[in-house]
Amino acid sequence: MKKSILLPLCGVVLASCSTVALTGRKQLNLVSESEVLSASLSEYQSYMKTAKVSTDAAATTRVKGIAQRIAAAAEAYLQATGQEADLQNYAWECNLVQDNQLNAFCMPGGKIVVYTGMVALAGSGADADDELAAVIGHEVGHAIAKHGQERASQQVLTSLGSQVLGGLTAGKSEAVQQAVGLAYGMGTQYGALLPFSRKHELEADYIGIVLATIAGYDANAAVTLWQKMQAASTTSTPEFASTHPSSDTRISELQKKIPEVQKAFGAAGQASKAAATKSSSSSSTKKSSSSKSGTGFKIG
Ligand SMILES: [Zn+2]
Repeated sequence: MKKSILLPLCGVVLASCSTVALTGRKQLNLVSESEVLSASLSEYQSYMKTAKVSTDAAATTRVKGIAQRIAAAAEAYLQATGQEADLQNYAWECNLVQDNQLNAFCMPGGKIVVYTGMVALAGSGADADDELAAVIGHEVGHAIAKHGQERASQQVLTSLGSQVLGGLTAGKSEAVQQAVGLAYGMGTQYGALLPFSRKHELEADYIGIVLATIAGYDANAAVTLWQKMQAASTTSTPEFASTHPSSDTRISELQKKIPEVQKAFGAAGQASKAAATKSSSSSSTKKSSSSKSGTGFKIG
């Protein structure tokens, strides 16, 4: 009897694995993409009902503009890596939320939130926009690598165990909702935040610098941003730092990868930057379409 139960279970686990296109890493997907997207949208909507949206019009326009360029880069990136089918899952949106905590996130489905604390951390220097692009690029990196789906799967596996492996789904949607809330810091009612794993962090760091470069920002700002995060962590434990464990290793990994990323995607970035400058000088209010032009890079 036990064997007949075990065999289908193995099948379930194997069928639930997919591959991160970028790294080839296998990921556990016990929870479907549509389940995560729907739970994410619902968490996001309830979060936005209570969130205090920033009234600083200039800062909001600035952050939304950076997010728009990163989103366009993400779309170009998904197309170039044969993941066009995923484009339908994204309905990009960005809000600047008045909160002094150092936090930002991008939910599965493309809902981006940046806290004003993060804008303050980036400051007003020449590389401030590049640093915000690094934050947003990193968060969008988590989204397009489907880390939310993977974290929800792990959380559901922890809370429901063999029930879910055996195909029993009682309480599953609630567990998915809870997992998404935990993962994005909205579910304080559920307890401690679920930190990102080291693997997820390194993947998001890499995709983040790729997206920032394609969007025409200086990827080196990812390094200065994390250095600032580390400095801020010594005085208190910022929200972003508690879910995004930082280390000297990640900074040195970034420093190693930035030159090769800039070599591969720098030309696409120059084109994006030129297009963004042109569109902001011709009309600052006209919404530019998510540019597919100017990002003619290939990923081999
Ligand atoms: Zn992260």
